Amino acid sequence: MAVVLAAGKGKRMQAAVHKQYLMIREYPVLYYSLKCFEDCPWIDGIILVTGEGETGYCRKEIVERYGFRKVTAIVTGGKERYHSVYQGLQACGSCDYVFIHDGARPFVDGEILERGLETVRQCGACAAGMPVKDTVKIVDEEGFVIQTPDRSRVWNVQTPQIFRFPLVLEAYQKALAGDCSKITDDAMVVERYGNHPVKLYEGSYYNIKITTPEDLVIADNFFDEKNGKK
Ligand code: C5P
Repeated sequence: MAVVLAAGKGKRMQAAVHKQYLMIREYPVLYYSLKCFEDCPWIDGIILVTGEGETGYCRKEIVERYGFRKVTAIVTGGKERYHSVYQGLQACGSCDYVFIHDGARPFVDGEILERGLETVRQCGACAAGMPVKDTVKIVDEEGFVIQTPDRSRVWNVQTPQIFRFPLVLEAYQKALAGDCSKITDDAMVVERYGNHPVKLYEGSYYNIKITTPEDLVIADNFFDEKNGKK
């Protein structure tokens, strides 16, 4: 089962349209994310999580328009990403594994899903990621460096983040009844409340999240490169 998140407001994009509906060439960002799961033969269903008041729009303009047949439910998300994920998880019914994916990452592909499936079968909890290319510094409130982590151990984390379903559902239930402060991804919920190690598997440097306006310029170039036009 896949939960695809599209309930963010995208404030950092400074656009009138939410970032998941912005266009990359002929299709909205969200189309590409959904298409990857739709085309994956062993994904049996997709829960689409949208913003308040957007379910009708999404059904008509995304799901019906592009003929996504695996979308079994469209649910309304919440204020924070973790609220949206929890709404999505509750709509999953029973399943072995759940792939939680940011709808704003249009360049997820079948190979990433394959690597994720293999990893979750072995480990029960995993997240896509890539080693950082830049040196990373931890700073204090005034911006002074307090630590430089060993770069070979630092990864940028992406989605899909994949879990045994009961493990992640229970961790989310505990998190929402407890402390969700500073939670920005699903791995953190399982690290904090799942009592289970999370393994990172190889995502892709193309698997960016469309967040700020310059990401659309990058996405446009990636599109050509992935389609062999460059
Ligand atoms: O805000 P952020 O960039 O971390 O969002 C990552 C993904 O989570 C996006 O696809 C966004 O639509 C989704 N999201 C959500 N509900 C929220 C916040 C973000 O579904 N309240």
